[in-house]
Amino acid sequence: MKSEIIAVGSELLTPFRQDTNSLYLTEQLNAIGADVTFKTIVGDRLRDLVNAVQVALGRADIVAVMGGLGPTEDDLSREAVAQALGLSIRRDGSLVVALAARFASRRMAMTDNNLKQADIIEGAVVLPNANGTAVGLWLDTQFAGHRKLVMMVPGPPNECKPLFANECIPRLRAILPVRHIAKRILKATMIPESTADALLAPIYTTYKDVDTTILAGHAEIQLQLFCAKPTLEAAQQRVDELASRLEEVLDQHLFASSDEKLEQIVLYYLEMKQETLAVAESCTGGLMSQRITSISGSSRSFLGGAIVYSNELKTAFAGVPPELIEAHGAVSAEVAEALAQGIRQRTGASLGVGITGIAGPSGGTEEKPVGLVYIALSDAQKTESLECNFRGDRDRIRLWASQQALDLVRRRLM
Ligand code: AMP
Ligand code: MG
Repeated sequence: MKSEIIAVGSELLTPFRQDTNSLYLTEQLNAIGADVTFKTIVGDRLRDLVNAVQVALGRADIVAVMGGLGPTEDDLSREAVAQALGLSIRRDGSLVVALAARFASRRMAMTDNNLKQADIIEGAVVLPNANGTAVGLWLDTQFAGHRKLVMMVPGPPNECKPLFANECIPRLRAILPVRHIAKRILKATMIPESTADALLAPIYTTYKDVDTTILAGHAEIQLQLFCAKPTLEAAQQRVDELASRLEEVLDQHLFASSDEKLEQIVLYYLEMKQETLAVAESCTGGLMSQRITSISGSSRSFLGGAIVYSNELKTAFAGVPPELIEAHGAVSAEVAEALAQGIRQRTGASLGVGITGIAGPSGGTEEKPVGLVYIALSDAQKTESLECNFRGDRDRIRLWASQQALDLVRRRLM
């Protein structure tokens, strides 16, 4: 079943307000197996609204209209839906009474414009709104000879969300064919999105019944697999099958088969292998430590470390010989390795990480450009380092450096 969402309100077309409700509605619709194929945002103009509703009715079986149900002049959703469907509007006596009672109970005078909220479209079922005066409407109707389910809900999020979840979803569920949803998230890192997609697309495009989305961001890619079937077993089986094929291709880049963060995965491994970690961070300024300690329970494996921004503190806190810095420069493989080894020895951790680099935008040279970062990992057996060239601004370079460092630890423990 195809569904569409129409968000109504001129404020949603300004730079100051966003249509956030539709994210919630989409989640709810997806969960019962209804795809959202279009979302429209329309200002408070009757002609545009009628047009948007008609276009949506021409494409989808389910149309959810939110906003524009209030008492003010610019609340025109009822009129628009009625016009689009060729239905009339009538004032509902019991709603008038309920509105009057609501105002009376609050000792407030009811202005006449409130009566508009007692107007309902012919044939509509009234959906009670526990958190406001504007009721929702449910229409099981016809448009151009096809059955259409149209629901109207108020715009304020605290009214829209419970009303949709409690009144619309159960009604849809009763009508829609039974669908069970299986979902899976796969996460990979240190692989460009285009490289990943070139490897993965030939596989996932053959699974037409599984909806696969690749999202890139924050130094990692996320694959979302989604499948709706009459039984959960059937849906799960398809998702599992595709997931395991994609996992195989992602190989070492894959770090989670769920929505977990890289730092969480690193901590799982540390705990499982009974290892402890300490870090000496220069250009990341504590970002790696911050990410690890944002996870509850990290104290079981993460000992701590030092932010060694100056050369003096690289020596004082991580025991890097001044001659080594003199000879190779603070941003060098040698210093990264000395940081990793030094912080490991000084803290008694079984693993040490050293990060040194040029986050920019200033400080780069021809020989050592912005984005050059050395990351080292040391354990009792060996110390190794990686030369990285990250692109982008300061925030991005620091984020990628922390990501690469976490990934280095993960791979060592895998
Ligand atoms: P309404 O009077 O029903 O049009 O909506 C009134 C309030 O709800 C305003 O504060 C809007 O900014 C907010 N609102 C309306 N639609 C949305 C939406 N799609 N997402 C988030 N807030 C909304
Ligand atoms: Mg509005």
